[in-house]
Amino acid sequence: MQNRTLLIRYDEIGLKGRNRRHFENQLVRNIRNSLKRIKNIQIEKIHGRILGRVNLVDAENAIKCLSFVPGISSVSIGITMEPDFDEIAALGISLVRDKLKQNGQLKFCVRTRRSNKFFPSSSKEVDFEVGSRIMGELSSEGLSVSLNHPEFTLEIEIGVQETIVFDNRVAGLSGLPVGSSGQVLSLLSGGIDSPVSTFKLMTRGCRVHSIFFDNRTFLGRGGYDKVVRLARTLNRFQGRGKLYVIPFQDIQVAIRDFCSDSNRVVLYRRMMYRISHAIAELKKCDGLVTGESVGQVASQTLKNLAAVSCVVPMSVFRPLIGMNKHEIILNAKKIGTYEISIEEQPDCCSIFMPSHPTTRSKIKYLELDEKRYPWEKLMVEALGMVETINLDDLDDLDDLDD
Ligand code: ATP
Ligand code: MG
Repeated sequence: MQNRTLLIRYDEIGLKGRNRRHFENQLVRNIRNSLKRIKNIQIEKIHGRILGRVNLVDAENAIKCLSFVPGISSVSIGITMEPDFDEIAALGISLVRDKLKQNGQLKFCVRTRRSNKFFPSSSKEVDFEVGSRIMGELSSEGLSVSLNHPEFTLEIEIGVQETIVFDNRVAGLSGLPVGSSGQVLSLLSGGIDSPVSTFKLMTRGCRVHSIFFDNRTFLGRGGYDKVVRLARTLNRFQGRGKLYVIPFQDIQVAIRDFCSDSNRVVLYRRMMYRISHAIAELKKCDGLVTGESVGQVASQTLKNLAAVSCVVPMSVFRPLIGMNKHEIILNAKKIGTYEISIEEQPDCCSIFMPSHPTTRSKIKYLELDEKRYPWEKLMVEALGMVETINLDDLDDLDDLDD
């Protein structure tokens, strides 16, 4: 029985003017996709809202799924009913009574939003009519009204086609729906930062594919397995993501053997950027994403960041550039990647670490170093060995833990 109405709100898309429909349609597609495992749910778009028809049990599951969909600002489980004050108040009384039983006392208010301008009462009048009926029944049991600091809010939406009553808003991720801004390629290591930067671009409407530079010859398979798990965790926010894995050991060995020790990490990074750019072009991605943040480590000084991104004629997005580690960790915990990231697995950049890495590399000397090893040939070889992992296929095999 479909006796519940999901009320799905979006904020930023609402400001989109003429393009609004494009964003709304993309959000509806993403919502349907995220709910595809729930049978008997119908999604429709009505006047700046998206509504779902569903039963109570599935409504709870749906809320969980929707918490992974960028673009949604909040979701409520509501009940569609006649715009009749007595009926609405009766529902309100039963909801408030449950809370009163738990708390002993309760401050509450009624808030109405009326998009049906032909409805004969104003929002304030509806608040008053419904609120006074509830107070009439429950004031003697410890209920009082607080408009500024209510512990419980009964919300009423009077739309053109229907009236929905609900008592809870679950916050969503906000931002823009994935797919509305094109595709980018994220350099995903097993660290804490790059999963957060990947997520940030997803909430700006990008579908984010990832690329990982793997040195299992020296470091074993642990890093690879970890990045696959991170990529799958991140793919839950978008779907249809791919992970490209590039064998990086030959390039690292050549840099170690032929180039200056102090430039090593910046030279690795220049090769990562070049290879990422080549994959991005091939896969129609319009920018690279990294988890770099100014000054976090020696390779991320202003000079070194510039010496790396200048090798690619493509936008490089660094959404964490001004964030400190503490903020990044809070974000990583929120999106569920932190616990995976802190598993001990060395990144390929950490092997053959020089004792004095440069913090002020000079392009002239980097280019001289690059004349000392056949980077073009090694790059072509590495690109020829790319492994492509379709992250949706892995999700069909088994579910990630919640
Ligand atoms: P993270 O926590 O993301 O690993 P970090 O602080 O360890 O960041 P670095 O190791 O200096 O920083 O890496 C900076 C950025 O370079 C990473 O955020 C990531 O975007 C990219 N990167 C580093 N190593 C790899 C790798 N093995 N594969 C793909 N990208 C990488
Ligand atoms: Mg790292």
